[in-house]
Amino acid sequence: MIEESLHKIQQRMADAMASVGRTDTALLVAVTKNHPVTAVEEVARLGCTHVGENRVQEAKEKQMLYTGPKLIWHLIGHLQVNKVRQAVPMFDLIHSVDSKKLLDEIEKVAAKHDKVQDILLQVNVAREASKSGMSVEDFPDIRDYAKTLPHVRVKGLMCMAPFFENPEDARPIFRVAHALYEDMKGYFPDGNIQYLSMGMTHDFEIALQEGANIVRVGTAIFGERVYN
Ligand SMILES: *Cc1c(COP(=O)(O)O)cnc(C)c1O
Repeated sequence: MIEESLHKIQQRMADAMASVGRTDTALLVAVTKNHPVTAVEEVARLGCTHVGENRVQEAKEKQMLYTGPKLIWHLIGHLQVNKVRQAVPMFDLIHSVDSKKLLDEIEKVAAKHDKVQDILLQVNVAREASKSGMSVEDFPDIRDYAKTLPHVRVKGLMCMAPFFENPEDARPIFRVAHALYEDMKGYFPDGNIQYLSMGMTHDFEIALQEGANIVRVGTAIFGERVYN
């Protein structure tokens, strides 16, 4: 039952933060990918205002069908340059920006919409070949480039840890991401850098202990996704 799962997650989030003495708050993004719009409506009814999708087309269909209180939509999956035109008007925060090419296209489309697009820079801290995200080496250059774009507002950093049998093994990855995030603050106007997005069903407690303030949780709320 979604309601029960949601409360459990919220409790586990609070416990994980308390375990390291954190008194700030962290945002739960309910990841609704591969679940129907009724799942979106149910979490919205339960007071969840942040939802995450990883595909533009799927999100678009859900946004068209959705009826309920206003939501904040997060794009968490890899974004292709040719999908930016659709994505910019749809999403409040794009977590997965990892190249100058993507930044250029977001700048262009956002300017057309007279919008300043909030984004996170996705860094592939773990150097997984299968994952998107820029390398730690490319990060400073892309970060400084993003700063020059008037219709792009960098709000922080996003990172995915590899799947480890023992989520404890993700801790060093999260720790590096946190250090990059703290370092970033000095390069942007005061207060702009405020989100460190890391942690999923399997490892969100470790991520919170290492400073995440956005966690992206799907399976633990909605159950296993069915792919067909
Ligand atoms: C699917 C996905 C999630 C949620 O994963 P769960 O294991 O179901 O919690 C989080 N972040 C990204 C980028 C995803 O693609």
